[in-house]
Amino acid sequence: MKKSEKREDKNMGKVAIYPGSFDPITYGHIDIVERALEIFDKVIVAVAHNAEKRPLFTTEERRKIIKAIFKDTPNVIVDSFKGLLVDYVAKTNAKVILRGLRATSDFEYEFHMASMNRSLNTHLDTLFMMTNKDYFFVSSRTIKEVAKLGGAVEGLVPDLVARRLKEKFKLPVRKKNPIGWDD
Ligand code: ADP
Repeated sequence: MKKSEKREDKNMGKVAIYPGSFDPITYGHIDIVERALEIFDKVIVAVAHNAEKRPLFTTEERRKIIKAIFKDTPNVIVDSFKGLLVDYVAKTNAKVILRGLRATSDFEYEFHMASMNRSLNTHLDTLFMMTNKDYFFVSSRTIKEVAKLGGAVEGLVPDLVARRLKEKFKLPVRKKNPIGWDD
């Protein structure tokens, strides 16, 4: 490698890719990104286009929501990808895939994925970060289930996400005393 190329490499800094469905993004995800920024110079949040998972939000909707959330954080890049994660990572200058772990139940799937990705590209490593104790029970799936039934998800997802969920589920604005038990 030439000297000038080396210098260029150094300037790019440490980059991690945080891939996921983010359908929708929660404070659990956001916490992982914020903590990763203490370790990496740049975090690329990569929204997976996975039609098989039948997402509630389109890839573009998910990307736009995340972009709006990190609009004041220039070292967070928001992107989306189709196909194999390792092929996408190869197009960037990242060497690390970032994933979050909530419980031992996450471990088996994550362990298999990380091992498969490593076998597809031996230069790639997966870094796991433990969930924040405040968000270990937060998953996009449960957020959608609760929101669909009109439950409060504020405090677990940003306000923008809570609003988008209400729009998606066409929920009426909740009345304070819908069944009139205080009468
Ligand atoms: P995927 O469909 O790829 O699992 P998700 O959006 O569900 O995408 O999750 C992306 C990553 O974020 C996964 O590594 C997942 O374990 C992690 N994650 C999800 N929710 C949380 C949370 N509350 N705390 C920490 N990590 C989380």
